Amino acid sequence: MIVILKQGTVQNEIDRLSDFFGSMGLKVHLSEGEHATIMGLIGDTSLVDPDMIANLEQVEAVRRIQEPYKKANRKFTPEDTVVDCSGVPLGGGNFQIIAGPCSVESEEQITFVAQEVKKAGAGLLRGGAFKPRTSPYAFQGLHDEGIRLLLKAKAATGLPVVTEIMDIKHLDLFADVDVIQVGARNMQNFELLKELGHTDKPILLKRGLANTIQELLMSAEYIMSGGNERVILCERGIRTFETATRNTLDLSAIPVLHEKTHLPVVVDPSHATGIARMVKPMAFAAAAAGADGLMIEVHNDPRHALCDGPQSLTPEEFAEVARGVFALRETLNA
Ligand code: PEP
Ligand code: MN
Repeated sequence: MIVILKQGTVQNEIDRLSDFFGSMGLKVHLSEGEHATIMGLIGDTSLVDPDMIANLEQVEAVRRIQEPYKKANRKFTPEDTVVDCSGVPLGGGNFQIIAGPCSVESEEQITFVAQEVKKAGAGLLRGGAFKPRTSPYAFQGLHDEGIRLLLKAKAATGLPVVTEIMDIKHLDLFADVDVIQVGARNMQNFELLKELGHTDKPILLKRGLANTIQELLMSAEYIMSGGNERVILCERGIRTFETATRNTLDLSAIPVLHEKTHLPVVVDPSHATGIARMVKPMAFAAAAAGADGLMIEVHNDPRHALCDGPQSLTPEEFAEVARGVFALRETLNA
C-alpha cells in the first residue's frame, strides 16, 4: 500500500505517521521527491483500512498495490534512481557504456582494452575473473589474479570496474571492485542476492536465461530488501525457440521495466545475440528504446579470445558503435 502525503507536510508529522504505521507492524519506505512525499507500507497490509488512512489530515491519497515488489516499484519511488558507480552516474538520463572483454586474460590484454574503450567513450570497464561456463573443461577465468589485473587496468585508466561474483565466499576479493555483477545463471541464487543486499556496492543484476521481468524485479527486491538499493538491471536476452541468435533480445523489456521500476536498465547486445556483427544494430535499437546504458564485449583479438570471441568487437568496431550510439542519443534528445 502506498500513502501519498499532502504537499507541505512537515517532518514531525511524517515521523508521527511513520510511528503510527510502525505500531501496526508495518515497515515504512519513505520517498521524498520534489513534488510529493510517498510512504510505502511494507508488510501485511490486509488488515489496514485504506479509508481510515485516507481520512488522516496529512494524507492526499492511498493506493493498494498488487505487485509483490515494493522497493523496486516505481509506484513507491516515482523518480528514476541514479546509481553512483564510484563517481560515474548511471540512470536517470545518465547513459553509460560498460565495455571490455568477456574475461580478463592478461595484464596487457585488459589494460590495452581498457585504454581503447575509454578513448571511445566507455564509462566503465568490464572483465570476468570468475566465469560461469557451460563446460567444466572451458576456461574458468583467472579468479583472484583476474581481479588484481582488472584493478591494475582501473588504476591505469581511471575507469570503474564491473566484474561477476559467483560465490559469496569470494566477496572479500571484491573489496576494490566498483560494481558487482550477478550473472544470468545466478539471478535466482537467493542466498547470494541476500548477502549482496548487505553490501554497499552497486549490483548489476542480469536477467536469467528463462526468467520473466517480474522474476527479475523480485531478484532486485531480494538485494534491496537487505538494505542495498543500488541495483542496475540488465537485459541480456532470453531463451526462446529461435536458434539464429544465441538468445533473443527482449527489447520491450526496456519500456516495460521503465514503467514498473525506477532502477536503471542496461542492455547487453553481446550476450543477447552472440554474434559480433549483430551488436551494432541491437545496441542502436536498445539506445533508441530508452536503455540507460549498454554492456558490450570488446577484445583486442576476438579470434583468439578465451571466452565469447564470436560476439566480441575489436576496439575499432567498438569505437564505431559507441560513436553511433552517442550520435543517436543526441538526435533523439534534440
Ligand atoms: C558475462 O557478462 O560475462 C556473462 C557471463 O553474461 P550472462 O550472465 O548474461 O550470460
Ligand atoms: Mn561473455
